[in-house]
Order: sequence, then structure tokens, then C-alpha cells
Amino acid sequence: MIIYKQKDYAREREFSAEVVVVGTGAGGAVAGALLAEAGFDVIFVEEGGYHPTSSFSPYLAESQPRLYRDNGTTVIMGNPPIPFAEGRCVGGSTVINGGMAWRPISEVLDTWENELGYEMGEKGLDPYFTEVEETIHAKKQAPYSIGDDNRIMKKGAEKLGWEYLDNVRAQDRCVGANSCIVGCPTGAKQSTLVSYIPRAFEAGARCLTELRVDELIIEGGRCRGVIGRGVNPATRQDEERVIVRGRIVILAAGAIQTPNILLQYRSLRKNKNLGGNFLCHPNAKVVSRFPYDVKGWQGVSQGGQIREFRDEGIVLAENFIPPAVMAAQIHGHGDEVWETMRHYNRLIACGVLVEDTRPGRVTRSFGRPNARYNITKIDHERFLKGVELLARLHFEMGAEKVYLPFSNLTSIESPDQLPLIKKTQRSRSSLELFTVHMMGTARMGLSRRDSVVNLDGELWDLPGCFVADASLFPTAVGTNPQVTIMALAAKVAERIAGKRAAFLATA
Ligand SMILES: Cc1cc2nc3c(=O)[nH]c(=O)nc-3n(C[C@H](O)[C@H](O)[C@H](O)COP(=O)(O)OP(=O)(O)OC[C@H]3O[C@@H](n4cnc5c(N)ncnc54)[C@H](O)[C@@H]3O)c2cc1C
Ligand code: SF4
Repeated sequence: MIIYKQKDYAREREFSAEVVVVGTGAGGAVAGALLAEAGFDVIFVEEGGYHPTSSFSPYLAESQPRLYRDNGTTVIMGNPPIPFAEGRCVGGSTVINGGMAWRPISEVLDTWENELGYEMGEKGLDPYFTEVEETIHAKKQAPYSIGDDNRIMKKGAEKLGWEYLDNVRAQDRCVGANSCIVGCPTGAKQSTLVSYIPRAFEAGARCLTELRVDELIIEGGRCRGVIGRGVNPATRQDEERVIVRGRIVILAAGAIQTPNILLQYRSLRKNKNLGGNFLCHPNAKVVSRFPYDVKGWQGVSQGGQIREFRDEGIVLAENFIPPAVMAAQIHGHGDEVWETMRHYNRLIACGVLVEDTRPGRVTRSFGRPNARYNITKIDHERFLKGVELLARLHFEMGAEKVYLPFSNLTSIESPDQLPLIKKTQRSRSSLELFTVHMMGTARMGLSRRDSVVNLDGELWDLPGCFVADASLFPTAVGTNPQVTIMALAAKVAERIAGKRAAFLATA
């Protein structure tokens, strides 16, 4: 296992490999591991640090700055503004995610097949999904790992006659410790840190950590490597300039950072699809207080989803969170928050996820990405409906108070107050959202006119430069995205491996 840290760049500032992979999250780790196993000399470049399972801490003040980009405080601008979180560490967002491991809903794969051909449909992508699902042990939870918060949700859905699906998760012997978003302390969650990255190391890949890629090396019209800066892990100051040469570059820095790297080049910016089609599957939180102990922290954070309203673009999910995150996400200050948090044992936390109806855009200014996204009138109506449905379910199960994601209606205490939601929510500005699913900004397609990369993942306008992350999505996928990202990255890796001789001949 060869891992470089920022302090190592003081003596070594030039590297080379056949394949340079930028990012080690869902997409990068899969592409890099499969190519290393196919015999390529692979080097990963990762802005974050290498933090093994033994280093994970349940304390947010320790974990968040270590594992999250900008301490999890970045915001997508729009009406309303949407805070978002992404990982910055070896394993990327998979280290801090909830582990849900769903394929796209079949309508999405049918659309992709109709528009892009057989290889993007259910059957064409099946071998890549299978490879990924086997590696990350995608399966349902053992009953002992399910907590009472999930049981109450499931019972409520059954009572109301709504379709409830037990989650498929990337986990092997999950004990339900409910620490997924600060790094799984048992190694059960199959983030790429414990699945694909070890496979890549086993096959000889190297990893340059604490190194942020700022530029591409473009020579003779081809991408020939990247240039970055060592990032001091304590001060986050830029340090050494490091050059990494390669015959192929795969960008897998996520749907916000990947377009940001590409948008600095005028020749690439000309394609207006770059940074466009920004999808973010926004999410609104609903927290309910029960008159008895639920102990939501015992058992997996997300045991299931209500898919009854999927056709309307609404998914309802249980999603319990550690105390510090809960305190930050509920309303009020001081005593008011303390009053809610005193009852942490009696809370259930859920989310309303709404499928994107109109994409936003990622642009670049002063070297930094700017994400913009406005929810539509339809999205707004869906959020109001989803929040009301969740509140109804919780009152049905005996909740005594439901905390709402609205700045002008922060809670209600009985089902009689449900009509207040429609009455008071006239403006999108009072809706409080959050997201962790950013996608679509370098979409795959059949021509430069409607996409940024071809179906092999290679940029139309920069040979030798590939994308293998959430940016690839042609459309939203109707569910949690990581398995689709991994499957598309596996497809990109297979295409590159299939043309090995041609790529290596470009030296
Ligand atoms: C809290 C949370 C919960 C989630 N829950 C789920 C879930 O349950 N199921 C699901 O399917 N999805 C979930 N997701 C989403 C899923 O994890 C992401 O969609 C997925 O990991 C994105 O994959 P990616 O390869 O595009 O980017 P990432 O996994 O984010 O990886 C990108 C990597 O690139 C690195 N990087 C970025 N810029 C640079 C640069 N300039 N130079 C070098 N390195 C760089 C980053 O540090 C990072 O390691 C969740 C996400 C979060 C944050
Ligand atoms: S619930 Fe606990 S054991 Fe299971 S994956 Fe999450 S952190 Fe790991």
C-alpha cells in the first residue's frame, strides 16, 4: 500500500503513471481499482487525507473537518439556498454516506436505453451493477440491526397502506451502530475505503493524498496529466506544486469539483453542457417527538424507504442522525434547542426527497465552483405534500410534536394542524432544504450537442481525459445514486481497458 502525504511532496514533486485518477470516492475508486486489476499502472490523486476505520470518531467536531469538504458547510445558491455535504478523504463521500445501494428505478433505465441505446439500459448495464453489488455486499439489513425508529415508520406505512421497501445497503455485518455519516467504526459499511481502494492497492496502485488537482496538462490536443498543490492537513494552506503525468486522466472529483476543474479551459467551456444539467435531489427534514422512548440511535440510520409516491417524484425515508447534527438541523437557539434535544431518545428523523424537475448549473469564478439551483413550483408542491404525508404518518403512530422544515411554521402538535402547512407555505423562501446527491454536470451522451462525454466517458473536446463520477448522469436516477455512479465508472474502466494498446501507443 503506497500512500503519499503532503509532507512527502517536499522531496518528491513529479510522478508518472499510465492512468491518473483524480478522486477516490464512488466513481474514482471503482475505475482505478478495475484498471489496476487490468494491469494498468494507476495513481490516485486525492485532496483529502487517508483515515482508516480505526481513526473514526463519533464526535462531529472531530470527524466533520477531517472527512467533509469545508466542514460540511457549503451552500448551493438559489431560492431557497440549499446546504450540501460531500466527502473529502480517501473514499470520498462513500466514507460518510448512509450506504443505501439501489439501482436506478426501471423507468430511468428504460429512458436511457431509448435515448442512448442498449448499453445504457437495464440489460446493458447489468454486468457493471452486478460487479459493484457483489463487491460492496449490497443487501438488506439483518433484523437485529434495525431500530425502533424504522419499525415505527414501517408500521405507520403499513397502517396507511403505503408501499415500504427495506433498504438494500452496502454493508457486511452491520450492527446498526448508526454512525455512518461520521465513518463506520466497525468497517461494516462498504465504502470504497474498505472495498475498492484495498483492491486497487493489492493490484499495485499508488495514492497521492492531501494533493488538490488545480489544472490539467494538455499537450498536442491531448490530456497528459494533472498539476496540483499539496494541502497542509492542519492549516489547509496550499504548499508544494506537484506534477503528475499520465497517458490517461480520469476525473472523479464529484459533480461540483469535476466541472470546476474543466471549466477553466475556454475550449471546453464552449460546450454549454459542461456544468449544466446540475441535479441535486433536494431533501427536507421532518423530526417527530414521541411520548415514549424510541432510541433512534440504536439501529441502522436508514432501514427503509416509502416509495408509495415515487410516481409523483417523492420518496420518504427514515434517517436518524447523531445528536450534534440533529441539534444543528432543528429550529431555535439555546434553551429552545436544549428543550428538543432533552428528548433525543424520543425523536424520529425522516426526510422528504424530491426528484429534480429543472436542473441548475455549476460555474467557476476565482477558481472556485459556484452551484446554482432553484426549485420549481412543482418541486415546492411536492415538498409540501411530502412533509404533510410524513407528519400524518407520525401523528398516526402517536407523535406528540412534529418539527417542520419551514422558517415560518416550525412545528405542529396535532393532525388538526396539518392544513396549516398549505395555508402558511406560499413562498419557496421559507422552505429549509439540504442535499447530498449532486449529479449530472458532465453528462454522457451520443453527441457533443447534448453531452460532455461520450458513452466511454471520454470528453468530446479533450482526448485522453475521462470522467467517472456522479457528473456522468444523463438524468436523475429516482433513488440514491452511489451504485449507479460505481456502475458507470466500471463501464468507463472497461472501455479504457478494451482500448489499452491504443491508449498506450499515444505516448
Ligand atoms: C452524508 C451523505 C450521505 C449519503 N448517503 C447516500 C446513500 O445512502 N446512498 C447513496 O447511494 N448515496 C449517498 N450519498 C451520495 C453518494 O455518496 C455520492 O453521490 C457519491 O459518493 C458521489 O460519488 P463521486 O465519485 O461523484 O464523488 P465523491 O464520492 O464525493 O468523491 C470525490 C472525491 O474527489 C476528491 N476531490 C474533489 N476535488 C478534488 C481535486 N480538485 N483534487 C483531488 N481530489 C479531489 C474528494 O476529496 C473526494 O474524495 C450520500 C452522500 C453524503 C455526503
Ligand atoms: S449502522 Fe453502524 S455498523 Fe452499520 S454501517 Fe452504519 S456505522 Fe457501520
